[in-house]
Amino acid sequence: MQTIVGHMEARRRLARAVASGQVSHAYLFTGPESIGKTALALDFARLLECERPDLTTGDPCGECSSCRTIAHSNHPDVTLVEAAEGKRLLGVDTVREVAHLANLTPSAGRWRIFIIPAAEAMTPNTVNALLKTLEEPPPGVVLMLTSAEPETLLPTLISRCQSVPLQPLSAAEVTRALIERWGMDATAAHELAVLANGRIGWAVRAMEHPEMREERRQQLAQMLTLTAASRDERIRAAAALAADGDTARRALELWTLWWRDVTLAACGATHLTSEGAPRAEAERQGRALGPQRAEAFLRALLAAKVALDTNANPRLTFEVLLLDLPHLAAAPGRR
Ligand SMILES: [Zn+2]
Repeated sequence: MQTIVGHMEARRRLARAVASGQVSHAYLFTGPESIGKTALALDFARLLECERPDLTTGDPCGECSSCRTIAHSNHPDVTLVEAAEGKRLLGVDTVREVAHLANLTPSAGRWRIFIIPAAEAMTPNTVNALLKTLEEPPPGVVLMLTSAEPETLLPTLISRCQSVPLQPLSAAEVTRALIERWGMDATAAHELAVLANGRIGWAVRAMEHPEMREERRQQLAQMLTLTAASRDERIRAAAALAADGDTARRALELWTLWWRDVTLAACGATHLTSEGAPRAEAERQGRALGPQRAEAFLRALLAAKVALDTNANPRLTFEVLLLDLPHLAAAPGRR
């Protein structure tokens, strides 16, 4: 039974590791927010613990008691390690508890698995508490870390994990999953996939929340025209996009995803995650700007993310960003 959407290449690679008995003691799943990194780690945990896995496809059976208990988050040997309620950072005590549990023998399955989403939410102290388990893992222990910002992780952490880089899904994959698994009609599924930019997790949340879709529709429409905006228009746009810290964060995330496509298009790539009008505009702007200018602004977007994470003023951050954005004439027929 296939449980997750996309990421076929990574799933086949993990299935080969299980089939050949070469399971690593630590994995790091990387890629943008909400593309299914934790879902893939959980799927891998099911594959490892499953009593009747299909190792050619990488699918756990979905029916044995291991598969069912993991799906219901109550398998005794599979632990999802998360920050305490209301906290952003993973506590050092939580990680010490992982180190302690890792030394116990598995109680039900063959493996003792710890899934740590958002590994960047560990302070150097917390990472240190985990290092011994990473360096001298007790037999049968598998640590699965995920991160949307692997460039911020400590090298000591990265070097001890096998990296599993994941890409955003294609709009076609998202559309198909929304139709087949969530029963959406084709038009609505396609519209949602355009807004999702390859992030199935976002699409599933937005299905229930029309206000998420509306905010994104407006932000995306605005972003596509900003290169043609005057200085005054840019200042006004900064105020709207950075209305508050959370809005600013979401706008920046969306903008970065879309601008990755502008940069890819500038380099002549054709495998973009955007679809429809955003894709056409990414291709047009990328071609007009060229790789150097597109990449320079992608770096500015990433720097703005770091600034917001360290509590910079959202509105000022967006003003600086928008004044950095290269100017391009609007596409014929726009504005
Ligand atoms: Zn199973």
